[in-house]
Amino acid sequence: MSINISKVRNDFPLLQKEVYEKPYIYFDNAATTYRPLQVLAAEEQIYREFNGNPHRGAHYMSNQTTVHVEAVRDKVQQLINAPAREEIIFTRGATESINLVAYSFGEAFIHEGDEIIVSEMEHHANIVPWQMLCERKKAKLKVLPFDNSGRLMVEELEGLISDKTRIVAVTMVSNVMGVVNPVKQIIETAHQHNIPVLLDAAQWVQHHKTDVQELGCDFMVFSGHKMYGPTGVGCLYGKSKWLEKMPPFLGGGEMIDKVTFDKTTFNTIPYKFEAGTPNFTQIIGLGAAIDYIHELGIENIEVYEKELLDYAYSQLQTVQGIRFFGETEKQSGVISFLVGNIHPYDMGMFLDKMGIAVRTGHHCAEPVMDHFAIHGTIRASFAFYNTNNEIDTFIQAVKKVSAMLA
Ligand code: PMP
Repeated sequence: MSINISKVRNDFPLLQKEVYEKPYIYFDNAATTYRPLQVLAAEEQIYREFNGNPHRGAHYMSNQTTVHVEAVRDKVQQLINAPAREEIIFTRGATESINLVAYSFGEAFIHEGDEIIVSEMEHHANIVPWQMLCERKKAKLKVLPFDNSGRLMVEELEGLISDKTRIVAVTMVSNVMGVVNPVKQIIETAHQHNIPVLLDAAQWVQHHKTDVQELGCDFMVFSGHKMYGPTGVGCLYGKSKWLEKMPPFLGGGEMIDKVTFDKTTFNTIPYKFEAGTPNFTQIIGLGAAIDYIHELGIENIEVYEKELLDYAYSQLQTVQGIRFFGETEKQSGVISFLVGNIHPYDMGMFLDKMGIAVRTGHHCAEPVMDHFAIHGTIRASFAFYNTNNEIDTFIQAVKKVSAMLA
């Protein structure tokens, strides 16, 4: 089976939109994707049919909401093949998931002089929380570099690891360069030293099959809004052997076992990490997004998007003076480039006026910009609802703008 593109495109109302009286082409999917009607319907259904605060009330609506929220936990468990449902924690997004681990794992396991390893190509979300932790605990952040093709220099990991290394945090796919990292190899190396690994799957999980058991990672994070789901919801997967030893991140309702003014004891996982009323509408919307991905088939998505990416690369190569950032054997989802000396903002602004949305700038990964000594790139990022026709229009537009600004 392959993707039925006209049916798929009809499911996404925003794809029918025009801007500046031109058909709208959306190539900023790595920033946030669009949502299909099925997700919009799921969110509306909650407010229309069974709105109630989950896990709390004994009444019908509360129970209905609880059942639906917990069903999504099962869906996420299946999506990433997690061994147990209680290892799935709902958060507000990838950023909050990483902050949760940095804070909570940090409280339990990081001490003065300890070391944390991240890669040079991380999104700020996978750098800053670790820096904040290092500041708090007087620990040290070490960086695994990439080479000029964007390839992560995994052969240097062994040399970076010391008996003080407590965790390695690395992205599965670079949100700037689209480089797919050899995370299994990283995990195997780290595990030989009993060091846990956190994987940032924010740019992976919507494009590829995910199996945390096969990978062996200790933590994985991702956001709903980048996988056709609502904003304000994301997930953290963590091995229970870690989660059970980690203190809570936020305190409040639902994360407790017993509260007195003398002492509070905490709930079991996952609830220990889900303080307050959860984003139940968004969680249930995320469930509908996962159903949608299953319906299309992640293998079909992978094949279709690879063809799209290969086509975009081949066509962009015909643009005079183009320079790509990220040219490794395994690329996914995004293409970053510059044309001659044209400022990425200028290119982005002109493309916008032609009805084409791309991202320009540092993409929340300033160390990647520093590596190449540039201020920013133009980034086109794709989803299964994009087409070769859209790519053709985009290439023509890039050529036109390049000729204008050269
Ligand atoms: N990691 C990566 C690789 C990302 O691309 C992003 C979003 N651009 C994030 C983390 C943060 O995701 P969010 O803003 O949804 O929390």
